[in-house]
Amino acid sequence: MKLKIIKDSNPIMRKKSLPVEMPLSKEDKDTLDMMLDYLKKSQDEEYAKKHNYRPGVGMAAIQIGLLKRMFVIYYEKESGPVEYQLVNPVMLETSVKQCALEAGEGCLSVDNDHFGLVHRYYKIKMKAYEAIRGEEIVITAFGYDAIVLQHEYDHLNGVFFYDHINPSAPDKQLPGEQII
Ligand SMILES: [Zn+2]
Repeated sequence: MKLKIIKDSNPIMRKKSLPVEMPLSKEDKDTLDMMLDYLKKSQDEEYAKKHNYRPGVGMAAIQIGLLKRMFVIYYEKESGPVEYQLVNPVMLETSVKQCALEAGEGCLSVDNDHFGLVHRYYKIKMKAYEAIRGEEIVITAFGYDAIVLQHEYDHLNGVFFYDHINPSAPDKQLPGEQII
């Protein structure tokens, strides 16, 4: 089954997602598996081209129309794949130091280009139930890893990456901000 990705023009994307009932139902676990599968396929160049997928490293349930506080992440790093199915995540700590991706951010739900630095916390600590491992985990993440987690976490609260761009000074670095 091909997942239909909802775009930012749909008002549902601005809604706050609701807590997922625990223990995790089979239906919710199956949904997370489908979402993760989509991300992996989207990063397979040949498959993505054939099926008209855009590469993505994260997807929140709201992006397929489910108002549930859960999201998946998948990308490869030198140290190995980063792979999560996070349910009911809670942000425990955020750093004063900020960071931003030099090239800006993208989103499977956003087709238009939004130029500018997306200001994020450089370091975060997040707690969630992780459905691949089947247990609660606490993630401490820096830089790019922290950015991806914040991007997906934002979707649970109806926030888009471009909400963090300063429209009057889109390329202005904040004091002490690390550009990645
Ligand atoms: Zn997104």
